Amino acid sequence: MEKKIKKIAILGNGRSGIAVAQLANKLDIFNSIFADGYGELPNFNKSNYDLIVISPGIPPTSPIAQLAKESKIEVIGELEFASRYCKAKIIAITGTNGKTTTVEFVTHSLNCLGYSAIYAGNIGVPLSEVALSENFDFIVVEVSSFQLETVKSFKPIVAGVLNITSDHIDRHKSFANYAKLKFSIFAQVANIKDCILNTNLINSEYENSTSFSAYEKADFYIDKNNIYFENMQIISTAKIQLVGNHNYENILAGLALIHRAVNLRKINIDKLRIAIKSFKASEHRLEFLGKTKDNISFYNDSKATNPDSVLVAVNAIATSKNVLLILGGLDKDMDFEILLSIKNKIKIAFLIGESQEKIKDTISNHITCDLCNNLEIATCAAIKSSSPNDIILLSPGCASMDQFKNYKERGEKFKKLVTKQIL
Ligand code: ADP
Repeated sequence: MEKKIKKIAILGNGRSGIAVAQLANKLDIFNSIFADGYGELPNFNKSNYDLIVISPGIPPTSPIAQLAKESKIEVIGELEFASRYCKAKIIAITGTNGKTTTVEFVTHSLNCLGYSAIYAGNIGVPLSEVALSENFDFIVVEVSSFQLETVKSFKPIVAGVLNITSDHIDRHKSFANYAKLKFSIFAQVANIKDCILNTNLINSEYENSTSFSAYEKADFYIDKNNIYFENMQIISTAKIQLVGNHNYENILAGLALIHRAVNLRKINIDKLRIAIKSFKASEHRLEFLGKTKDNISFYNDSKATNPDSVLVAVNAIATSKNVLLILGGLDKDMDFEILLSIKNKIKIAFLIGESQEKIKDTISNHITCDLCNNLEIATCAAIKSSSPNDIILLSPGCASMDQFKNYKERGEKFKKLVTKQIL
């Protein structure tokens, strides 16, 4: 029997820290919140805490996190804390890209199928806010690599890793560390079949996992524009409102997760088809904004915060070398070289933000670059350089915080800048 927790220290006073405090109050656990970087550092050992709960926004290297680590007290993350008290079954999703889309798809589909599902986690609703609710059959949890740093007994009934490409290397120090963290989502999953993996991530340890791929045979796969589970045709990709193979992979992964949670062989597949057909991606994710009278299209993909998400966006919409790409922002020590693989689709790259010089150094031998400093200048320059049938795409491949509050503010600004152009 685990020792009963009576007093916790919460590190971080953002939404997740506050949610932990509220959950602790409901559980009659005494708690104190410490903000990172303000005032005197706490002396944890003197205060008789049983547990320290750290918010995902606090890097392990920060002084307060170091102090917590050096104390004799157990340190866990918000997700781990909440999951210890969670009433519903957890379906967990991680990956470099597509997490939010997949989480939303799984939640939407389970609700269409008649289950009661809600999403939580990195998507913006801390699990602590919903953990004690008795109203849900499933909580679909978006899990980031930051959250995986501090989980221990987090136990989803089924979990998926969508993809792993360069991101957050500044925090995790190497790609290998980052990839290992992503796989740690499976640590407590009881049955290997409940581990859902893109075929391109399967290694000898996960040979018997449930696989998906838009490119090759897998448990969930695409053949002649149709989605299949084993030999059951589920739906034609033409009926899906999202575009691009990357989005089809999100749907395939989502279906694999749903299958392991509720068994596709036992549910009403027509209801599932309705769920797939009615699902739309949310704002800022390769969002089509409209066209000019000359057939110049605009897309807002402000949520693209790493190079691979730019690659998939360009591949999903380019019809020739006709993409005017607005790119750049805050770097996370990422590798931009993969952008060279789409050089034949990019007419000009308009570079903005702190990373503009680094990106220029990496790609300008193969892709025409225009250094623009900010989004407004880049958007005007892209419009000026465009000709009929071109596509103007904001897909920054970087975080936004050098010039914006967040990716939403960046996307909103872009939408405002282009509205006058659209019919
Ligand atoms: P996340 O929550 O992992 O950031 P989102 O669903 O919010 O994922 O999408 C983030 C960005 O990644 C968007 O720009 C989107 O177009 C792109 N994207 C979505 N799914 C994938 C995928 N499977 N592979 C690569 N990029 C993707």
